[in-house]
Amino acid sequence: MEIKITKLSKVYPGGHKALHDIDLTIREGMFGLLGPNGAGKSTLMRILVTLMQPSSGEILINGKNINKQREEVRKMLGYLPQDFRFFAALRSWEFLDYAARLAGMNSRKERRERVEKMLHDVGLFDVRNRMANKLSGGMKRRLGIAQALISSPSIIIVDEPTTGLDPEERIRFRNLLSDLSHTDTIIILSTHIVGDISSTCNQMALLNEGELVYNDAPDKLVESAKGYVWHANVSVEQYNELKENFPIISTIPSGTGWEIQFVGEKPSGLKATGVHPSLEHAYVHFMENKLQHWNL
Ligand code: ADP
Repeated sequence: MEIKITKLSKVYPGGHKALHDIDLTIREGMFGLLGPNGAGKSTLMRILVTLMQPSSGEILINGKNINKQREEVRKMLGYLPQDFRFFAALRSWEFLDYAARLAGMNSRKERRERVEKMLHDVGLFDVRNRMANKLSGGMKRRLGIAQALISSPSIIIVDEPTTGLDPEERIRFRNLLSDLSHTDTIIILSTHIVGDISSTCNQMALLNEGELVYNDAPDKLVESAKGYVWHANVSVEQYNELKENFPIISTIPSGTGWEIQFVGEKPSGLKATGVHPSLEHAYVHFMENKLQHWNL
């Protein structure tokens, strides 16, 4: 299973260039697409699921051009869009049954078995009779993933799935996705939340202003931030000066000043100890360097 994206660009009517010359190959496992709001993630996802045409470039899935073999490609895809809406007048199981019918499952028995399995898999069996619009935010998202999975797709695409979820539901949702990443399935998780990526993805890409700026393992990004993350106890004056020049990752009031973590080259003369970087630190470090590089 392979998705090969070559020289993909998208210019919206009005001239906004949302994607520039993206080259990217995605293989089995969990792939994290990370970038700030407006980076072009949803645009790329919508092109991938054939809901939108690129301005130029192509995408091949196992050698099949997605725009020329659209129907065939759609059968391989399960998609949970960012702005997923439910049918208010359906119970949870009815909603999944409807999704199964749309996916071409004509046998009632087959549909019932599949719907029950999905309800169990996403932990919604106990609320199967509840109206879909009465579910909590996290449950709705899980019902959303269940509809994306109903036809056992080999490519699963989820766009910003944890936005608005409480921490417990966010972890539950992440675990649900990583359980799915068995062999021969590609899961693409698009998010602006670094924490969605760290625990689950073996590959990641960073998009910024429509450009692909990083494409490798999350661990390598973390490696590149080693020696650039610091912990220090500083006075209010020092803090005010530091925050002009460094991204401050965390601040805790301490005595008359602040206990902080920041990213960058340690200023000479400042007493600071090195911190082992997290993916979040590494993301900040990388973006900071990239932006400085672009501003030159
Ligand atoms: P992300 O998903 O990373 O937040 P999007 O793909 O939604 O980014 O958007 C990328 C850029 O394209 C943004 O600047 C956005 O304003 C612009 N954009 C998105 N959709 C449209 C559209 N239909 N028409 C014009 N510009 C758009």
